[in-house]
Amino acid sequence: MVHLSLDELYKEVILDHYRAPRNKGQLDPHDIALERNNPLCGDEIELFLKFDGDELTGIAFDGKGCSISQASASMMTEKVKGLSAKDAAGLAESIKSMMAGESEGDQATLGDLVSLKGVVKYPVRIKCALLGWNTLVEALEESGKS
Ligand code: ZN
Repeated sequence: MVHLSLDELYKEVILDHYRAPRNKGQLDPHDIALERNNPLCGDEIELFLKFDGDELTGIAFDGKGCSISQASASMMTEKVKGLSAKDAAGLAESIKSMMAGESEGDQATLGDLVSLKGVVKYPVRIKCALLGWNTLVEALEESGKS
């Protein structure tokens, strides 16, 4: 196995998701649609959630902006699909605490998402990386299921 430094991993994973975003586009039907932006960078995300009971069975995002904002949203959709609303909200909190530098980020729980930690040393990009996650937290709150 080739060992990649965090910086290399960060670039590789983010570029991969930016070039080939997962779950990109509109989701119909959906239960919640929420649009948010990051005026500092011009990033835009529209998030669509579909639930079956408490389970997040469908998630998609549309948007435009920098590679970090779009890649982070893509990674998020891949990771939270199929989770309960509570677990998805818990994961978002772990990411936010990692990006705030309050926790290291547990690779076993977060997997590839740990690569977002590479952004922490570029403070202006943290808002880019968190745009999708903050939108998710708000959308979950709106659903009343988290
Ligand atoms: Zn951005």
